[in-house]
Formats: sequence, structure tokens, C-alpha cells
Amino acid sequence: MNMQLDVDDSTVRHVVEDVLKRLGHTHRDSAGSIPEVVTTTKHSVTGNARSTSKRKFGVFEDANDACEAAHSAYYQLRDQGVAARMKVVDIVKSLCDKNANSWGKMELDETKIGRLDHKIEKLKIVKLTPGVEWLKPDAMSGDHGIMLEEYAPFGVVGGVTPITHSIPTLSSNVVSIVSAGNAVVFNPHPGGAHCANVAVRVFNEAIYRELGIENLICSVEVPTLKSFDVISQSELVGLLVVTGGPGVVSAAMKSGKRSICAGPGNPPVLIDETADLDKAARDIIFGAAYDNNLLCIGEKEIFVVDAVYRQFLQAFESAGAFKLTQNQLDQLERAVFTYEDDGGGCSHPVLNREMVGKNAVDLATIAGTKTPAGTELIFAETDASHAFVIEEQMTPMIPVVKVRDVEQGIIDAKSAEHGYKHSSIIHSRHIDNMTVMARELDCTLFVKNGPSTSGLGLGGEGYLTYSIATTTGEGITNPETFTRKRRCVMIDNLRIY
Ligand code: NAD
Repeated sequence: MNMQLDVDDSTVRHVVEDVLKRLGHTHRDSAGSIPEVVTTTKHSVTGNARSTSKRKFGVFEDANDACEAAHSAYYQLRDQGVAARMKVVDIVKSLCDKNANSWGKMELDETKIGRLDHKIEKLKIVKLTPGVEWLKPDAMSGDHGIMLEEYAPFGVVGGVTPITHSIPTLSSNVVSIVSAGNAVVFNPHPGGAHCANVAVRVFNEAIYRELGIENLICSVEVPTLKSFDVISQSELVGLLVVTGGPGVVSAAMKSGKRSICAGPGNPPVLIDETADLDKAARDIIFGAAYDNNLLCIGEKEIFVVDAVYRQFLQAFESAGAFKLTQNQLDQLERAVFTYEDDGGGCSHPVLNREMVGKNAVDLATIAGTKTPAGTELIFAETDASHAFVIEEQMTPMIPVVKVRDVEQGIIDAKSAEHGYKHSSIIHSRHIDNMTVMARELDCTLFVKNGPSTSGLGLGGEGYLTYSIATTTGEGITNPETFTRKRRCVMIDNLRIY
């Protein structure tokens, strides 16, 4: 890419001088001098070796350097006000949209999990993440004057992203975090770090060109557990947001830093006798097959009441889901799970990460069968304690379990969800059943009569982000999630009437 900005030199000089002046109190090196910026080349971010040699555009070898650069960028953003936040949001959303095809392919090539069409779509919908407009201060006015509660930034936020949606999570996090006035340092998943860092560079180049702000979005070039520790222990980082499985949630909680934890899920679906079975079948195929079941909100196991069990299986097959026999299920199970002694004499299934995000056709081949071309989802009948039910296996192979009645279905669904309180789905026209399930599972997202994706504003009401803070309770993250609430009061004045 050879991007050239059409700006005259005096404008460039003015912007640089202005930025340097405002950076003066925060951005001096250890000797107290202002670092050199090559003013004559500011209008070109890629066209001149001198201009780029000193700039990292957000990607740092050293996590400490990344935290320091982000901290400096936070002050630069603060000085440019809310308009600059809006500009950054606009830049990130439009770059995701514009680069969706190439970035989607790059992410799939690197991570080797999921589906290209959905990788592309996940980038195109980053624009649905709420921006600066989300933050509305609260005010009170009375005989003793007025009070204003505002949403203030933390400064620098440390972020961890999953391999399942590397650029989408990073980008959507940036929209929320910067809307709230913060800068950010990411420790991306090592398996999706290259594509994350490409996006970080492109975002920063555009932000620098438009606003002169450097390194607002930082990341570690080769992320490790050690670099996570550096970020989580840095005094410059005020808050963490981690999106991933149990390991990173536990590490964030132990770090001592305030953490927003978007943790694992294992969303169950319950189908009762009042459900529209054809629609339920279609909805489940859409949600569970999305990006080969990589979504944390995606349907992971189905419980169907006895009264409509056979009818549902027929509807599922008619809608395009492909059924495995018991032998094929057993063969697939041996590929997807190994069994380890849990130390207490019992064995427990361990997911083979190689199988995560594979497509349904390949899984069927591993199971020893062949599906019709274009099959998106395979399924098998299992009991409620099967490894495919209890493990969050992130493959487009969904187990279907027959339950005696709704009560049994809710008990089994609750058990499969493991108390993550992440997501669950019901297909029913019975409001009492919906209410009981909502209360029992107490999930952050509870979708009734739609695919899981409709819980994130895709075909349902609501808005999108890629970090659903289940463990720590903030819910579907948005700009407010990344703010401190501050109160400002005026005593006995400024109330006009
Ligand atoms: P993962 O847990 O393997 O990795 C997630 C991130 O955490 C990666 O960047 C990884 O490097 C880091 N990490 C893992 N262990 C760590 C540790 N001990 N210390 C520091 N960092 C650590 O998960 P994944 O396979 O990348 O993503 C899938 C998981 O993420 C699933 O469990 C899924 O449900 C969950 N997820 C949750 C949400 C949500 O919004 N709640 C969204 C997407 C994915």
C-alpha cells in the first residue's frame, strides 16, 4: 500500500508543532528533551524511509514500550477532545469495512479456523459497535444547584484478544475503548497476532495522518504470557479487558488489576413442544454453523423435549443438518477429544485444538462419512453427559439430547452451561417456560426464538460487540464499560428556575 496525503508543508509543520507543544509535559525522554519528529515527512506515512524509521505505528517488540507509547497517546487524544475520538471511531469502522475481504482472508490464512464468508462479515459489522454517542452524562438539578455525572476515561486499557476473532475483537474493542477516551495496548492471541498487528499498523497510520496522534492503539509484536504480565502489572495501565477462555480470565483476575472478563461459554438450546420446529432448525443451523461454530454465543448443544424429539430431528435434517450414526460419532469423538486422568481416578475429555473451527464436511470425513456438498452443520444424538455436550468444542458438530420434559431440559441445559452465565437459547411459544429458563440459567444473553447471533443485534434488537463480559458482569461491552464515573457539583447556583 502506498498512501500519500495531500497536505501542504506549512499545515504539516503547524500540526506537528502543535502536537509537540501539547506533548511537552508528557512526552519527554529521560534526558528531558522532546523526541525528534521528522516534520517534513509527516504528510506521508509510507512513502519515505526517514519518516517511517522512527515510527512504530503501534506495534512494539517490548510490552513496556507499548504501554508507554499508549500512555503518551492517551494525552494526545485527551488534548484533541471528543471530536478526535469520533474521528478515530470513524477511521476504525471504515477501515474494517474497506479491508474486510483482504483482512478476512489474512486472518483465515493465519489462524486456519472458521469460514472466509463469516470472517469477512465479522469485519463488515464492526461498524455496529456503539461509539462516542453512547456516552450521555447524567444530570440533576434542584434547590441546591446542579450535579453532573460524566464518564471519564481510565487512561490506558490493556486488552487480550482470542484466536477465534482476532481483528474483529481488537477493532470492536478499539471502538468502545477510544470512544470512552482511552488508549489501548493489546496482547493478541499468538495464533492471530500477525493479522492483529497488520490492522493495528493500518489504524495507526490513518489516525496519525488525520490527527497527528501516534500509537493510540498499541500491540505486542510477539505476544507471550510474559508480555501479558508486563501489561497487567504496568502502572500506566488502568484497566484490563480480556476475551478468551478460562485461562486468561483466571490470569486477569489474579493480576490485581481491575479486569473486565469476557469469558468462555457453552450455550445450550432448549426446544419445547410449543416451538416452531422448522424455524428452530433453520435458526440453529445459522447460529451454530456461523464461522464453523467459533462464536462464543453460538449454539453448542440442543435439548429437545420427548414429545417433539423425532419431529425436530426430521426438521433439522430437512433444513440441511447432516446426521452422524453412533459409530461415526464415536470415531469423531476419538479425533476431537483425548481423555486424561483428572487426578481423582476419573477421566475427563480434553479438546484437540486442531479440530476447532474445522468445517462440517471435513469433520464428517474424519467421522468416516461423506456429506452432501455445502453441508454447514452435522449433528448426532447423544446423552446429556457426552463430551460433545459438556465441552465447549467450537466445531460445527452439534449434539442433540432427548429430555423428558421442559423441567429436565432446563436442568440439563443449566448443567451444560457450567454456570458461566454466558448465553442460552430457547425455541418456545410458552412464556412460563421462557421465564423459568431465564431465571434458572441467569445468562448474560438469552435469545428466544432466533439464532444466537440475533442476541448481538444481527436480526434482533440490540448492538454489537465482540466482548461479552460474563464473568465480571458488565455484560455486552460498550463505551461506558471503559469509563470511570465522576461527579461535578455546583452548590446553590446555576439552577435557573
Ligand atoms: P484462549 O483462552 O485460548 O485465548 C484467549 C486469549 O487469552 C489469547 O490471547 C491467549 O494468548 C490468552 N491467554 C490464554 N491463557 C492465558 C494466560 N494464562 N495468561 C495470559 N493470557 C492468556 O481462547 P481462544 O481459543 O483464543 O478463544 C476461545 C475462547 O474465548 C472460548 O472459550 C470462547 O468462549 C471465549 N470467547 C469469549 C468471548 C466473550 O465475549 N465472552 C468472545 C470470544 C471468545
